[in-house]
Amino acid sequence: MTEKEEIRRADGCRLPDEEQKKADVKFMRAAMAQARKGAAIGEVPIGCVIVYEGKIIARGYNRRKNDHSTLAHAEISAIRKACKKLGDWRLEGCTLYVTLEPCPMCAGAIVQARIDRVVQAAENPKAGCAGSILNILQEKRFNHQVDLTRGVLQEECSDMLSSFFRELRERLKEEKKARKLAQAQTQSQDEGEN
Ligand SMILES: [Zn+2]
Repeated sequence: MTEKEEIRRADGCRLPDEEQKKADVKFMRAAMAQARKGAAIGEVPIGCVIVYEGKIIARGYNRRKNDHSTLAHAEISAIRKACKKLGDWRLEGCTLYVTLEPCPMCAGAIVQARIDRVVQAAENPKAGCAGSILNILQEKRFNHQVDLTRGVLQEECSDMLSSFFRELRERLKEEKKARKLAQAQTQSQDEGEN
């Protein structure tokens, strides 16, 4: 282990409890700001930040639709940037904040990157791999387990997702209505001409 690695490990990535709680809320808010960037371009609002030595070193948000890529999840994008920044594929000493429980792909990448700690907000009962369906992050048979904190700003992040889906449903309904109306108009025009 190099001296730098030793210091990183000795520091761990947790502050004293109360301070840590405050920091977790602050960084989760930064992840929420990322999620909103996604929502602004029509993506499901999921955001992520990675923190190293008390500072945000990488940010990411879901861009699956815009990038036409299955891989364009918030966490993958942030991990890619953090690796570049630290010049290492290992992200030891880092904490990843994410507004929604990671999917199997992202949970796998988090373990691969040896990220020390994950803080999540909303739970993901349909795809979550930090305890909802599987707990990839803390699977003992893997060579790395993650220190996991759940439920930071859970309600706010869940609300952000549900209002996004509610608005989407309403928009689709409106579009359908408009299409039907346009169809009916063309039909009556055609009938008028006959
Ligand atoms: Zn994912």
